[in-house]
Formats: sequence, structure tokens, C-alpha cells
Amino acid sequence: MELEERLHEVRDRIGAASVAAGRAPDAVVLVAVSKTFGAEAIRPAIAAGQRVFGENRVQEAQGKWPELRAETPGLELHLIGPLQSNKAADAVALFDVIETVDREKIARAIAAEMQRQGRRPRLYVQVNTGLEPQKAGIAPDDTAAFVDFCRNQLGLEIEGLMCIPPADENPGPHFALLSKLAGRAGLARLSMGMSGDYETAIAFGATSVRVGSAIFGAR
Ligand SMILES: *Cc1c(COP(=O)(O)O)cnc(C)c1O
Repeated sequence: MELEERLHEVRDRIGAASVAAGRAPDAVVLVAVSKTFGAEAIRPAIAAGQRVFGENRVQEAQGKWPELRAETPGLELHLIGPLQSNKAADAVALFDVIETVDREKIARAIAAEMQRQGRRPRLYVQVNTGLEPQKAGIAPDDTAAFVDFCRNQLGLEIEGLMCIPPADENPGPHFALLSKLAGRAGLARLSMGMSGDYETAIAFGATSVRVGSAIFGAR
């Protein structure tokens, strides 16, 4: 199957899952995850109308997106991988959405860079719903306090929550937990669901899904 066909199939399935969940067919944003793929592999997705993309490394994204952006106005780029403070300036300069705000230090660095650069990327807080030691994210119990800290101490507007459930577990309970935490924090947006589970995520209220291999192929 060609990339364009795979993209259309993912779009169709997102639309069907949204309708099945009682929502509008275009209620869920598709973030096409293009990490590890070069500009030549990404261009066909842009040509097929895809406008929102996700990358997990700042440096890798810097190597391809300035060029792609110059070719096509209106692209939206999401950072979906862990962010180090020494990359905060580059991330604020390049990304439209940073989905991985996960600790005070990085929130402070982002706030300082937003002030300095006059750019305001939209922000999500990453939650480690499975409390996995190797995974980034705020602990579920600390999420509400961290969102308050970002808002009240740093003046950051948080748009929603993001999670990556443990690979070996049923993702449903993790999506349900993220939805509950967002409700408590007064947040309406949920970034959850990847190639293997995006329809489940939509059933649990995802407002955006991050789909890579189902569109671009195996990495
Ligand atoms: C790679 C990645 C994805 C996409 O994963 P696929 O299984 O290829 O769809 C989604 N979210 C994050 C945070 C990722 O790093």
C-alpha cells in the first residue's frame, strides 16, 4: 500500500471511531508521527493534505522541518518526545505544540524562552499513567498540582494532557485515567492513542491521536 492509501485508511478509521463515540467525524486531530523519516518520505503526506506532524527529537526535527515549512505554509509541528532544558530554546523556536511538559525545571525553561522569544507554543502535560520508571511524565496523583503550578506560578496556559500507556498493558484504563485527570484539572484536550490503539483512545475521549507506523510504515 502507498503512503497516501495508508493515510486515507487511518483518516477513515479515525472518522468512524469518532462517530461511534458520538462525536463529529472530524472531532479528532491526526498528528502524523514522522520521526526517523526524512523529508522525501514526509512530502507525500503533505501532498495528500496532512498538515499536523509529530517529532520526538528536537535536533532531528530541526534537520527537516524548516525546509518542509518553507515549501508549504500552514504546517503544525508537535514535539512528542522528552525535552531537555538545554533544548528548550530550540523547541520553543521550532514547535507549535509541546506535548511533553513533565517537570518543573522544563516548565520554567519553556516559560523563560516563551518570554524571551515572544513565541507561545501550545502546551500539554505528559502524565506517566503506568508509573513506569523509564518513562517521562508527571505521576497521576501530582498532575493537578503540576498544572496549577504551570498556570499560577509560570503563567503558562496548559491545553491538555498526554500519555503513552505501558506497551504490554491494555491501554483502556490508562486512557480512562488520563481523561479523569483532565476533567479534574479543567482541561478539555487529550493526546492519546498510537498506531496500535488509536481507535480505543478515541472511544475514551482522545481529541488528538499520534499515529506513526500505520502511516509511514515500520521504523
Ligand atoms: C513514536 C511515537 C508515536 C507513534 O507510534 P506508532 O506506534 O508508530 O504510531 C506516538 N507517540 C509518541 C510519544 C511516540 O514517540
